Amino acid sequence: MHKPEISIVVPIHNEQEVIESLYERLTKIMDSLDRPYEIILVNDGSTDNSATLLNDLVKRRPKEFRIIHFSGNYGQHMAIMAGFENMRGEVAIMLDADMQTPPEEIPKLVAAIDEGHDVVNSFRLNRQDHIWRKFVSKAHNIIRKKITPARIKMEDEGSMLRAYRRNIVKQMTATGEKSTFITALAMIYAVNPTEIGVKHAERTLGTSSYNLYKLIRYNFDMLTNFSLVPLQMFTLLGIGVSAFSILFVIYLFIRRLIVGPEAEGVFTLFAIAFFIMGLILLGLGIIGEYVGRIYQESQKRPRFVIQKIVEAE
Ligand code: UDP
Ligand code: MG
Repeated sequence: MHKPEISIVVPIHNEQEVIESLYERLTKIMDSLDRPYEIILVNDGSTDNSATLLNDLVKRRPKEFRIIHFSGNYGQHMAIMAGFENMRGEVAIMLDADMQTPPEEIPKLVAAIDEGHDVVNSFRLNRQDHIWRKFVSKAHNIIRKKITPARIKMEDEGSMLRAYRRNIVKQMTATGEKSTFITALAMIYAVNPTEIGVKHAERTLGTSSYNLYKLIRYNFDMLTNFSLVPLQMFTLLGIGVSAFSILFVIYLFIRRLIVGPEAEGVFTLFAIAFFIMGLILLGLGIIGEYVGRIYQESQKRPRFVIQKIVEAE
């Protein structure tokens, strides 16, 4: 039986325009490495023609290609997890189907694994994305660095071209969480991680699956999964506001004794009340983000459902 050394895992969601060039560039660079490999493409509930195009690749390169079809859309990170659960190689390499981080950079990652690293992270050198994407990402990276444990140390958690040794992958899949963030999760288990710069290109084929809403949800996944700081900040804020209002009450009481009854300043009162109501709603929302995820984890539903795996006999 073909025993691959390297397993490439790529999540696929409506990527029909991309698949042919993904096939060509991936096989070309992997053939040139001259090490046995497999390519696991995980179809995350695509509604375009991706499924047919993917199955066709198995006919063209039966030794290398394996396709996992989900029964619906479970998200990019779950698709990668399914690929990881089914990999046969000693080293996993993941990348995005759109090849914004080019497959031609894979040999760099393999070289770092050969040097003995168990996790090879990457950061995007002069990132080619819309200005608003770069802004969201920058803000997110700054917050993430401040509030996640020191272990999760990396430049750019959104760069998806990464390499992991098999033992790291097995620990990640054993974690079994429904909402997770793979690049951060790997760092929980890393013993000897490293980080390298990789090229970044514009998406020339197909379109991004992420809109602003999905992106915000996704950023919350990362923060709630790896940090309790948002909750703790609210506790501190609550203590601060309470302390301040005690002082305020004392002040008003003294004024009452000295100046007598007053009824001016209603609008100031409203402004303060609205501000504090806003804070309370925000706090409730943050608690809700955690509670919702706890609820999801407590439901005994599968985190993804594999409809079928298409591969050579
Ligand atoms: N993807 C997925 N499921 C989804 C959304 C995206 O498997 O629900 C895949 C997509 O096919 C691609 C990768 O995840 O391989 C990154 O998605 P995309 O390029 O759309 O995101 P962006 O690069 O804009 O963050
Ligand atoms: Mg992309």
